[in-house]
Amino acid sequence: MNSIQNGISREVRRAIENAAGLIRSAGKGVVLTGAGISTPSGIPDFRSRGSGLWERYNPMEVASLSAFRYQPEKFFAWFHPLAEKIFNALPNPAHHALAILEKAGYFHTIITQNIDGLHQRAGAKEVLEVHGTLQSLTCIGCFHQYPSDSYITNYVENGETPRCPGCGQILKPDIILYEEQLPRQIWQKARQACYDCNIILVAGSSLEVIPVATLPLEALDRNAHLIIINQSSTYLDPRAKIIIRGDVAEILPLISQEVLDD
Ligand SMILES: [Zn+2]
Repeated sequence: MNSIQNGISREVRRAIENAAGLIRSAGKGVVLTGAGISTPSGIPDFRSRGSGLWERYNPMEVASLSAFRYQPEKFFAWFHPLAEKIFNALPNPAHHALAILEKAGYFHTIITQNIDGLHQRAGAKEVLEVHGTLQSLTCIGCFHQYPSDSYITNYVENGETPRCPGCGQILKPDIILYEEQLPRQIWQKARQACYDCNIILVAGSSLEVIPVATLPLEALDRNAHLIIINQSSTYLDPRAKIIIRGDVAEILPLISQEVLDD
């Protein structure tokens, strides 16, 4: 109890303790994270109009597969400020707290909608990136895959469009664009993880993007408990055992502390 910081309402404090109790007793947990877990690391949620990424283009128009094939330079221009922020970002206390809880055995899988790789950089091991990753690129001509390394550095620092050293075609970051299918194997693993768990924690996701937003249903339909930590409401709030409104970078470290203290 003493580990809970001041400045948090009695109601939130109780919710944190209850969440920790559930996580401890459940034993087999899955986490689903969204943009809200990376905004404290300075990465904007590009779906929100306040992010600055709507100024020149509508993301829905430039970040679709057909738009990418038709005018890749427009995509790379739109994506540049976001790539720069991702490139320079560091994991925040929310990423670290989840990595600690994974290591301690309370969560066996972290499913994320984010492409920034920050869960892994915080030390998490079993991370399923259902919307793809910025860690690799694939040639749209010969389909050869390359690690991001120098390509992303050149793109972020010099605005250079990444090109295949083999055939000269454009390299597409392995992130899932609109109109694109989710990576099949990762998606199946994510569904299985939700099917097998007895607690699911949604952190920093408003559960607005289909089909990822349907994943907790797999768990709920098998009577798993649902905990939601998010700034705004979600369509699954009525089915959640515990809802905490707040900043995940503040709440998750308190939960992990509480779980591990007892
Ligand atoms: Zn190629």
